[in-house]
Amino acid sequence: MSTFKAPKGTYDLLPPESAKYLAVREAIAAPLRNSGYGYIETPGFENVELFARGVGESTDIVTKEMYVFETRGGDRLALRPETTASVLRAVLEANLHKAGNLPVKVWYSGSQYRYERPQKGRYRHFSQVGAEAIGAEDPALDAELIILADQSYRALGLRNFRILLNSLGDKECRPVYRAALQDFLHGLDLDEETLRRAEINPLRVLDDKRPEVQKQLTGAPLLGDYLCDACKAYHEEVRSLLLAQGVTFEDDPKLVRGLDYYTRTTFEFVHDGLGSQSAVGGGGRYDGLSEMIGGPSLPSVGWALGVDRTVLALQAEGIEPDIPSATSVFAVPLGEEARRILFAKVTELRKNGVAADFAYGGKGLKAAMKAANRSGARYALVLGERDLAEGVVQLKDMESGEQTAVGVNEIVAELESRLG
Ligand code: ATP
Ligand code: MG
Repeated sequence: MSTFKAPKGTYDLLPPESAKYLAVREAIAAPLRNSGYGYIETPGFENVELFARGVGESTDIVTKEMYVFETRGGDRLALRPETTASVLRAVLEANLHKAGNLPVKVWYSGSQYRYERPQKGRYRHFSQVGAEAIGAEDPALDAELIILADQSYRALGLRNFRILLNSLGDKECRPVYRAALQDFLHGLDLDEETLRRAEINPLRVLDDKRPEVQKQLTGAPLLGDYLCDACKAYHEEVRSLLLAQGVTFEDDPKLVRGLDYYTRTTFEFVHDGLGSQSAVGGGGRYDGLSEMIGGPSLPSVGWALGVDRTVLALQAEGIEPDIPSATSVFAVPLGEEARRILFAKVTELRKNGVAADFAYGGKGLKAAMKAANRSGARYALVLGERDLAEGVVQLKDMESGEQTAVGVNEIVAELESRLG
């Protein structure tokens, strides 16, 4: 062990476990690629102001969780705590929204950084795959995103998750509700911090996980009762599109995303095998965000799914994602000349798309066969002195244990035909 350890709240992805993370990212990305979403990548850090404005000054993310630093050049930057604001910044900067063809549909995959209290499913470095559809107000777009997330989870084999759905209204009806909620909250027995939150961002109080707070919230006014006709109609359309596609969801009138920019459709994917860190992903419509960061009006919708928690959800359901064995053929040379010949064969196999590996380090037969076993390879190629003299190589089927001598010049074709 070295003197150093991974920083608090972080962990390393190591093989073979790391293959699950790739499989999860791939499973989430596949339906997006198939639905008109293009890949976008933005820097891991941004001007701190982007998040302060884009995520919201009053959110936990900005007030407590952001990694902020000053560069040698005097810029104030922050490691990204989420990627929606970055994506919108990038789209506006490149004028993608002006190229016609709205909505701009993009997906991303990458690390996020939040200074949180580490616990199972809650880390300081984690990763998300996300999707954003920018510049269109259309209930079918909201439905599309929810359907695609549902499809990814189902493709991974997950079953014990639920979709919670709500509408947060818009700039017409939300302020009326906000005032009514504030009135209600003023009459409760709340601690100072929560009272302050009630002043700045009362909807976030609904999101408080503490049971003593939740108990007091029974009877709180619900946004659903305050929605204007346009928001009500929009929400009904999203719901019926989902129902028509057989996507089941639960109406959750208390579901809020505390960020100021969220409007109308809001949703969360929760998994019932994860304990208190149960949200595996979330998203919604953010019609106001573009204007908040200095852009034009661009109604948009998106989600971010947490890769780490999705892997935990797979474990909770006992699902092993389909991960093909990394190596199909493992070569075991005995002696210098055998080494050169098999190295050439391995290179040729790889060029032909066969996953192959090699016993490096001049191992003896026993250690080399152990390595072949560990690699998970279906076939081992063993080349010894006598084989060399006879111009053959021993092809061992690692499943049946059966061994056949195959001509050195035929071995690549033989393996290709056996592996299909
Ligand atoms: P929570 O309420 O659990 O803090 P959140 O509302 O902060 O979640 P979002 O910002 O909506 O989460 O991020 C979307 C997803 O990213 C979450 O559903 C979760 O899967 C994942 N995620 C968020 N924060 C963390 C974290 N600290 N560690 C691991 N995954 C996280
Ligand atoms: Mg959080």
